[in-house]
Amino acid sequence: MQQTKVTVWNEYLHEVLSEEIAAIYPKGIHNCIAEFLEEAGMSTKTATLRMPEHGLTEEVLADTDVLIWWGHIAHDKVDDEIVQRVHDHVTKRGMGLIVLHSGHASKIFKKICGTDSECLKWRENGEKEILWGVNPSHPIMNGLPEKIILEQEETYGEHFLIPQPDELIFISWFSGGEVFRSGCCFNRGKGRIFYFKPGHEAYPIYYNPQIQQVIVNAVNWAKPVASPEIVYGHYTTPTKDM
Ligand code: ZN
Repeated sequence: MQQTKVTVWNEYLHEVLSEEIAAIYPKGIHNCIAEFLEEAGMSTKTATLRMPEHGLTEEVLADTDVLIWWGHIAHDKVDDEIVQRVHDHVTKRGMGLIVLHSGHASKIFKKICGTDSECLKWRENGEKEILWGVNPSHPIMNGLPEKIILEQEETYGEHFLIPQPDELIFISWFSGGEVFRSGCCFNRGKGRIFYFKPGHEAYPIYYNPQIQQVIVNAVNWAKPVASPEIVYGHYTTPTKDM
């Protein structure tokens, strides 16, 4: 069987600008994620904001089954042309897209979901988060317990200004009292998109084996299937086929 090809994109600024964050992710969040995906048998590449074309050339995307996106402080530095290119690969070719944590405010997620940058509540005070699985038969729940406990995470709270997810996988509870739809699936054209909330840079979230399992499962769920060619625009019915 062909290996699933994953490109992990990270803006890669916190780890360069802050010694505290660099101590948690010495090789960057992107390499931490790529390493556990490799261990799960996937083939990975990484790409970062400061690479030419943010590392997301036509060639790289054409060779990507699933793109993972982590961004936070530099969403506005991402070129609109690259956002459109990613969008086209998702909707027209069926490339999967997994948007992590503060990627809710990225240009690509806003384009896909119609969210705004200010579309949820947040605070950083190390509260406990419990992610409750609310869709146990879904492939993203494969091998997972009914809840995942993170002793310290950034709090996100409803209301989350997104369209109704096509499938809701997790709802998070926080010790401060908020709840949040923390695992949401969307279908757009040929593409599958999964938004997954955990992963604030100041906590070692992506070393958690259950969080890793969710991301591995999400890649397997989001990778392209052999879907039919779709034609948009003016269309002359090919009557001989009817
Ligand atoms: Zn954060």
